[in-house]
Amino acid sequence: MISVAADRRDPERASVFAVFASPRLDYDRRDLEQQKKLIADAFTGMRWHVPYLLTGLRQAPEVYFGSISRVRVPAWSSGRAALLGDAAWGLTLGGMGGGTGIVGAYVPAGQLASAGGDHRAGFAAYEERMRPYADRWQRGADPGRFLAPAGALGLRSRNALFGTRLFQRLLISSTTSIATDAGLPEYASA
Ligand SMILES: Cc1cc2nc3c(=O)[nH]c(=O)nc-3n(C[C@H](O)[C@H](O)[C@H](O)COP(=O)(O)OP(=O)(O)OC[C@H]3O[C@@H](n4cnc5c(N)ncnc54)[C@H](O)[C@@H]3O)c2cc1C
Repeated sequence: MISVAADRRDPERASVFAVFASPRLDYDRRDLEQQKKLIADAFTGMRWHVPYLLTGLRQAPEVYFGSISRVRVPAWSSGRAALLGDAAWGLTLGGMGGGTGIVGAYVPAGQLASAGGDHRAGFAAYEERMRPYADRWQRGADPGRFLAPAGALGLRSRNALFGTRLFQRLLISSTTSIATDAGLPEYASA
C-alpha cells in the first residue's frame, strides 16, 4: 500500500505512507539510503503515482522506517525500573499509541504517589490498572496484515473497506469510544 497526503502546515510538502509485507529485514537503522532502497525495491514497477513518489523519495530529507511490531511483555516492572508507553504495550499503527502513552504516564505517576513511596506497590497497582486498558486495543489488532495482505482476496477486501464511508466512520467511532473510556482514577494532588 502506498498513499500520499498534503501537509496542511506546508503546501510545498506532501507526506507519503508506504507499507509492504516482507520477511524480517536486516538493516542499519541509521542508514537512510539503505532504507530508501528497501522501499524503492518493494514498490518499483507499480503504477498509479508510484514512479513519481519514488523519485521524490530519493530527495526526501526525512524517512521514518520501521517494522509494524507488537510488544508483549509479561511484567512491566522489575525492581525500581518500569516500562511505560510503547515499551510496555506498543502496537505500531494501532491508532491509540499517542493517547495511551499519555494515560500510561498519568496512571503510574498517580499510583506511585498514592503508594506513599513504596515503588513495588505503586508499580503493581499501575500494571493492574493499566494492563486491561492497553490490552483492549492491542488485542485482535493486526494492522500489518490488514494494510499489506498476502493475497488477492485480502487486497480486495482492504480496498473495498477503505472505499466505504461506513467503515471510515466505524474506525473513527471505535477509536473515539476507546479513547474516551479510560475510567481514569482521580489521584489526590501531592
Ligand atoms: C508510522 C507511525 C504512525 C503512527 N500513527 C499514530 C497515530 O496516528 N495516532 C496515534 O495515537 N499513534 C500513532 N503511532 C504510535 C505512536 O507514535 C506511539 O504509540 C507513541 O509515540 C508512543 O509513545 P512513547 O512515549 O511510548 O514512545 P516514543 O514516542 O517512541 O518515545 C520514546 C522516546 O525515547 C527516546 N529514546 C529511545 N531510546 C533512548 C535512550 N536509550 N535514551 C534516551 N532516549 C531514548 C526516543 O528517541 C523517543 O523520543 C504511530 C506510530 C508510527 C511508527
